[in-house]
Amino acid sequence: MISVEHLTKYYGDFLAVDDLSFEIEEGHVYGFLGPNGAGKSTTMNIMTGCLSATEGHVRIDGYDIFEEADKAKKLIGYLPEQPPLYMQETPAEYLRFVGEAKGLRGLRLNEQVEEVIRQTKIGEVRNRRISALSKGYRQRVGIAQALLGNPKVIILDEPTVGLDPIQIIEIRALIKELGQDHTVIFSSHILSEVQAICDQILMIADGRLAAFDEPGNLEKRLLSPNEIIITADAEPEEIRDILALAAHITDVAMEEKKSPFTTACLKTDHENIYEASRSVFEAFSKKGKALLEMNLRKASLEDLFVELTEGSGADTVPEAESETDTEPEAKKEVRR
Ligand code: ADP
Ligand code: MG
Repeated sequence: MISVEHLTKYYGDFLAVDDLSFEIEEGHVYGFLGPNGAGKSTTMNIMTGCLSATEGHVRIDGYDIFEEADKAKKLIGYLPEQPPLYMQETPAEYLRFVGEAKGLRGLRLNEQVEEVIRQTKIGEVRNRRISALSKGYRQRVGIAQALLGNPKVIILDEPTVGLDPIQIIEIRALIKELGQDHTVIFSSHILSEVQAICDQILMIADGRLAAFDEPGNLEKRLLSPNEIIITADAEPEEIRDILALAAHITDVAMEEKKSPFTTACLKTDHENIYEASRSVFEAFSKKGKALLEMNLRKASLEDLFVELTEGSGADTVPEAESETDTEPEAKKEVRR
């Protein structure tokens, strides 16, 4: 559906997107995940034809976004980071205006405007000025304009930034819904959000693709090294003896000893940590010793994200950062 090949973008001599290549297939929800400054907006602006690339190609359903811009752009609905809303207009007026700009006329225009108003649930505010709407409703109006013309691909740049928790839940639900009959790409610097909504995660750090996989696979990739933390009603020496019977336990380190209990950290070479923990359980049961606690210390996607983005010099602090507008003026200029 979308192919991005060797995309590179320099702002002056600053490299913002560094030889990015990936393929987006039809009918999934993709999440661009990366810290602020990773290059997400730059990539999206290029993919939607709003910004030129220094090098590389973007094709939408085979159409080059620069060479065959008209055809390519018809396939995309875009909500930029700063939605281009006209504050003095009402959502209904604004959507008619955008619809006309997209080439819709007459009955089809009316139908489309009604359809996106319904989809984004903004019916009750359709005749209020956009300036009087909450940020959540404004974001819906922004998404509504992206949906006009029923494009195959919907691209949303940080659609939940600056929203309150209830609005965030609503917008996430809307994105999921859109994913049922569109290809959706949205960006976020919040891991849990991407994890919750996407079928595929593209982790972007320093303008490069750090990982591209399903959330589940990314998690699986992290399953080693695995650690099992146990607390047992036994002395350290007894624990060592017992674990000598357990398969796949490669290392035992005593962590805490509060007689008669001992806490230890076990390492396993088994790719399936649950199998390893089963053997630990069985070894204790064979010796008639009580295993009081057993926890699996798995690396999380959070760990991977931090690891991949570490040293990028970018800000990985989530949520709280989201409302501050630290964008350079020049960049806003690009979008206008
Ligand atoms: P993200 O959306 O992931 O936060 P951006 O694509 O906005 O990242 O920015 C990537 C990098 O490029 C950042 O370091 C940003 O400061 C820089 N940048 C973005 N736009 C401009 C611009 N118009 N001029 C100079 N630098 C820019
Ligand atoms: Mg951005």
